[in-house]
Amino acid sequence: MAPVELRQVRKAYGALEVIHGVSLSIEDGQFIALVGPSGCGKSTLLRMIAGLEEISAGDVIIGDGVVNDLTPRERNIAMVFQSYALYPHMTVAENMGFNLRLAGTPKPAIAERVNEAARMLDLTALLDRKPAQLSGGQRQRVAMGRAIVRNPAVFLFDEPLSNLDAKLRVQMRSEIKTLHQKVGTTSIYVTHDQIEAMTLADRIVVLNQGRVEQEGTPMDLYRKPANLFVAAFIGSPA
Ligand code: ADP
Ligand code: MG
Repeated sequence: MAPVELRQVRKAYGALEVIHGVSLSIEDGQFIALVGPSGCGKSTLLRMIAGLEEISAGDVIIGDGVVNDLTPRERNIAMVFQSYALYPHMTVAENMGFNLRLAGTPKPAIAERVNEAARMLDLTALLDRKPAQLSGGQRQRVAMGRAIVRNPAVFLFDEPLSNLDAKLRVQMRSEIKTLHQKVGTTSIYVTHDQIEAMTLADRIVVLNQGRVEQEGTPMDLYRKPANLFVAAFIGSPA
């Protein structure tokens, strides 16, 4: 687990700046939702925290050090995407243990971590199945299992539920909440769904065109939106 801090982080693609000096401070163990309309820069910001995208200016701090020059693996973060990209020829257990195997973790330790994560995610009965034999929700749980077994300092989620139907989304939302209560890992959760953000997050950060419009608890944003954009986005009463 670790706190995460962004200090005046910027991102430009060529001459076009899409993230304009974002500063954020996320406490150890907190669950933050990063919300905003399509194209506002949520994925770009997340990818910069993950180390998948170079930052143009500013600092990303994880734990007590600047990680700007560290690789994604060295940052000890785990990312869950909407396209969970499980390996079709591997079992659930093999998919979940894959990253540990790459890292050279001994087999018995892999089995132990996979079993523990499977218990947490209610996947124990499914460990020998192939992804094709799972429902969409089960596949998303395997993707989360694959992230958890690495025992990361930080979880990054990029709209992990947006490919699921509405009913399953609500169910998975509560599973993610329960999971966070169990493992307590610092989490940054990107979504364009304000209800998801309101129900999951300790704090919400509203992004618009590469800038933070407001951040606060779900109640703060709902009761005291800083401007019309936030009010409209959060759905505050007019
Ligand atoms: P979101 O995840 O909030 O939908 P993104 O972070 O994907 O938004 O994109 C933010 C902005 O950056 C958009 O205007 C997008 O077109 C632009 N962008 C993203 N990736 C690239 C890229 N590789 N090259 C140029 N522009 C990009
Ligand atoms: Mg995105």
